[in-house]
Order: sequence, then C-alpha cells, then structure tokens
Amino acid sequence: MTALGILKQCFGYDSFRNGQAELISHILQRQDVFGIMPTGAGKSICYQVPALMLGGMTIVISPLISLMQNQVSALQANGIPAVCLNSMLDETSYKAILSRIYRGEVKMLYTAPERLSTPSFQRIAKKLHVSMITVDEVHCVSQWGQDFRPSYLNILPFVKTLPQRPVLSVFTATATPEVAEDVRKLLDLHEPFCLTTGFNRENLYFSVRQPRDKLQALLEFVKSHPDKTGIVYCISRRLVEQVTDELNRAGIPAVRYHAGLTDTERRQNQEDFIYDRARLIVATNAFGMGIDKPDVSFVIHYNMPKNLESYYQEAGRAGRDGSPAECILFYDSADIRINEFLIENSGENPQIDVKTREKLRRKEKQRLRTMQNYCTGASCLRYYMLDYFGDTSPKYCGNCSFCRTHSEMKDITQETQKIISCIYHLHEQNLHLNASELTAVLRGKALKKHPEASALSTYGIMKSISEKACLEIITYLVSTGLLSLKEQNLLHLNRKAGLFLKEQQTLSMPVKKAIPTAETASGKNHSPGIDETLFQLLVQCRNTVAKKEHLPAYVVFTDMTLRDMCRKQPVSDMAFLSVSGVGRVKLEKYGDAFMNVIRNYTSPVRKD
Ligand code: ADP
Ligand code: ZN
Repeated sequence: MTALGILKQCFGYDSFRNGQAELISHILQRQDVFGIMPTGAGKSICYQVPALMLGGMTIVISPLISLMQNQVSALQANGIPAVCLNSMLDETSYKAILSRIYRGEVKMLYTAPERLSTPSFQRIAKKLHVSMITVDEVHCVSQWGQDFRPSYLNILPFVKTLPQRPVLSVFTATATPEVAEDVRKLLDLHEPFCLTTGFNRENLYFSVRQPRDKLQALLEFVKSHPDKTGIVYCISRRLVEQVTDELNRAGIPAVRYHAGLTDTERRQNQEDFIYDRARLIVATNAFGMGIDKPDVSFVIHYNMPKNLESYYQEAGRAGRDGSPAECILFYDSADIRINEFLIENSGENPQIDVKTREKLRRKEKQRLRTMQNYCTGASCLRYYMLDYFGDTSPKYCGNCSFCRTHSEMKDITQETQKIISCIYHLHEQNLHLNASELTAVLRGKALKKHPEASALSTYGIMKSISEKACLEIITYLVSTGLLSLKEQNLLHLNRKAGLFLKEQQTLSMPVKKAIPTAETASGKNHSPGIDETLFQLLVQCRNTVAKKEHLPAYVVFTDMTLRDMCRKQPVSDMAFLSVSGVGRVKLEKYGDAFMNVIRNYTSPVRKD
C-alpha cells in the first residue's frame, strides 16, 4: 500500500499536510531525516506512516514516560500495533509485551531515552530487526536548547550497539541553527534530509496584557470562556498553588502541576486534565512536554517566561487541532527580576564546566531581553517572534493584540526630521532635555528651567500636534534606535539620526485604532456552518465511548473530526469513512454509535 493509502486507511486523513509526504518519502528511501515543524503541524504522521511500511520495528524515543501511554493508546485506537516499555509496567505486562515484540507483532515501540543505556534493553534490541529510530523533541540533546536532557546523549551509543544501523528520523518544534547543528553532530545523522516548514501557527491569537490585578484578569478570562480547556503557566510552585486555590474557590475545576508534588498527584492531575475532568491545569514549566491534547483553547502565561523559545513552545500547546486558540501573556516588570534571579541561581549541571556555564548564563540573559522586548515592543507580536526564529512574515498579522489595536502605519518622516533637528539645536546650546521637556519646546511652551530654549528656531515647530502624540513619536524614535535615553532620561541623538537627515530617509509608525476591537478569538467560536446541537450530541456520544474504553475523549475522535461529522452527517459506512480522522478501525469500532446519533437527529424515530 502507498503512504497515502496508509494515511487514509489507518488514520482516516485524505491528504498529507505541508512537508509530511517529503519526509516520509526520504525515510522510505532509508535516508535520515530531520524535521523542524511547529506544534500541531503533524510530526507524528511523518514517522508513524513509514513505520508501518518499513519491514521490522521502529523505536520511538520520547521524553516522558507518563505520556507515552497516551500516544500508544491513540495508535491502538486506530488498530496500529504499538506498545510502550516503561518503568511503570508490572512484570507480567512487561513479559507479555516482550513476547509480542519477539513474535514480530509490534511495529512501533515507544520508550524513554534512559532505558537505552540499560544492558537488558540493549540485549533485547540486538535480537530485533530495528528498521528506524525516531527521536521526538530532539532539541533536548543539545545543551544550547532550552531543555537539555543528558539522557538524550544515550541515543547515539545505543544506535552503535545495533548490528545494523537503522534509519534515523528526528523531530522538534524548536531549534535555532545552533541547536540544529548540535543535533546533527550529537546523533551523527548521515546526510540528513532537513525540512523546516516554518514556525507560523495561523490559528493562534497572541496577546500581551499588563493587568493591574492578574488574578482578577485571569478569573474574568476563564469565566468568559466557559467549557474551554486551558493551561495557566506560573513562574513558581508557590504561585501555582495560590492561583489553583483561587480558581477552585471561584468554582472553576482546576488542578495543579509542579515538580514539588508527589509522582502520584502529578500523574493524577495530568490525567484529570487530559481526560477532561479538570478544564484547567495551573502549572510551572515542568508541565507540557509530550502533552498532545489537541483541544486546548488557551494558554495563559501568568508571568513572563525566561525566553521566547520556551514561550513559543508552551503557548504552542494551544490549538494543536488547528482550531482558533488564544495565547495570552500577563506581563509585569517584576517578572524580569524574578527571571534574572533564576538565571543567576540556575541549577549547576556537573557536566558543564565553569566557562561554558558563564557563556550559557550570558546567553540566557540575552534571551531574557528578547523576551522582554516581545512584551514591551511596539510591533506585531507574530512578526517579532517569527523574525526571531528566522522566518519571514508580514509586518502585520492581523491576529495579535498589537495588530488588533493598531490599524495602519502613519508616515512620521516630517515629525522625525523636526524632532531630530530640534535636539540638534538644543545640543548646540549645550541643552539636554528629557522627553516631556522636549515636547514642551516642540509645542512652543516655555520651560522655566531653560528659558533660553524659547529662542531656538525650532521652538514651537510642532504646535499643531497634541502633547500625547508628540510623546508617542519620541518614544517610538527611541525604540527604533534613532534616539536613546541616557542618565536622568535625557535624550541623545544616535548616529542613525544623522544618517536619517543626510540620506533623507522616511519613517512610519504604527498608530492605534480609534475603537479597539474586542479582544477575543476563541471565546464563543461556534464554527460557521456547524449545527451546534448535533455537535453537542456527538460530544456526549464521544464522552460515553471514551469513559467506557478508559480513553481520553480526543483519542476517540478529535473536535475537528466531530465537526466534519456535523458537516457531512454520514449515515452509511462509506460516508462515515469519508469523515476526516475516521480510518477503517475507527469505523468498525465507533461507526454505529455515532451514526445512530446522526440518524436520530436527522430523522428521529418515534419510540411509541
Ligand atoms: P505535532 O507532533 O507536530 O505537534 P501531531 O502529530 O500531534 O502534531 O498532529 C496534530 C494533529 O493534526 C493531530 O490531531 C493529528 O492527528 C492531525 N494531523 C496530522 N496530520 C494530518 C493530516 N495529514 N491531515 C489531517 N490531520 C492531521
Ligand atoms: Zn500581529
């Protein structure tokens, strides 16, 4: 069967997404591949489809044992022979899995990197035909990435113990060029086919807010998004506790997650979230890797995270299924100091020498400043991030808090010329002013402290402009680097300012919309063309099935699939198979239950 045939029959999808087919075809030609694709792009399909087509077995290395079982359940729900070897298995199950593996019944074996270095696992692997090794979250192998895991360094030695080198397929959502180079080296990829699909996530709405009362703002947001699932990230364990308590007090089912809890509670809370028993999880950054819950509608950062890489990764856990979702960051300048403190006191990794550690720290501080500029900058948030990750993107995305409140670029060339020449003349008189004093001079208001400024030719040249607008332009010129602020907030001209006049450059500045639009992207997003009543009935049916089978609801069918069902209203097997996300096995298992709901809804049978 072709790759496309497998995609349809096993996963129920009609076509490949951007990049998937190419990666798969290179794997099938036994070439190593390295895929850098944003969360939700569909990395799993890129190795799951070829794993079913190659002879032998694929070993999938993934960072978190506790979540592997979910991934494996999702595959099993599609009738795919996948298993997971982890430390939580009792001896009987472990042996049962091993004998299935030895009988050649298993196509995909999920395991954590720690296991690779155990002699018993190496002995097992040597006896098998391992055709591919897949590494998920591969950036963890590099200490330049944001979540270095020493256990990932076990991978290459493990590959070398195998009698025949399998093809390597490795994936991540974030990798700077430096990290990507490290991955290639540390895993010894053989002339890999590298593919980056771009980092943009169109369905995500990005927003930065500075609420005076964060808790109040959070409660309001959560209440205005009833029935929606979300993650709230906090910077400390203490804050996680506090925020969870407040949410619960307000009657909102939320659970907490941080490294200070017992394993049992952490696992329990994570499952409550995945199985939709709690619609919110409040967590430190310890939460999230390997979570592939597709229907998370919002990710709120209660504090500014330490760098944009972490932010984009954490925020990216919203809207994996492609539905509109919101990523909101509550910014407060106190977050900077906390992050600086955390960088200064970050855990000492014994594998890193003092010099490297210093270098890492400097890098971390630089990254923190980039993060801060994201929060305070005057540009499209999406543009800022994508530009940082090396992607090209339009300067206006129309789907972030900046673009929603700023309509157009206003030409400020003339104003800029006037401001620069005014400062220039002031400096000639040895006068150094701050922004509000300069504004006064530009608008023709005499300064008590510097009466001589009134005699300048540039005094009052911006009379027609309001004080507020004038200050905004000056602030903008500082942010573009034409001017800078020195001691006592006094304004100075930079070299760029001289060039601006000399080369007759032009400049535009984003201006605020008169009436800002309401800030919500997914609040009440009932999809157009979807019968909401039928959708809710299908959701109920899904919940019943999921409960019976002890599966997370999204493993049965995702919201996207239920929406397609609403659109197509299938009542025959053929029609049901045409729904996106329905493969052969799911048709057999769930077809009747869901088609009954649709039949009853479209032509209700009378029971009397
Ligand atoms: P990633 O690992 O890149 O974050 P996933 O592999 O979890 O993304 O895929 C995200 C979602 O997209 C999943 O629900 C998956 O089933 C779905 N998906 C993947 N590939 C396709 C495709 N070709 N067509 C439709 N849906 C797809
Ligand atoms: Zn934007």
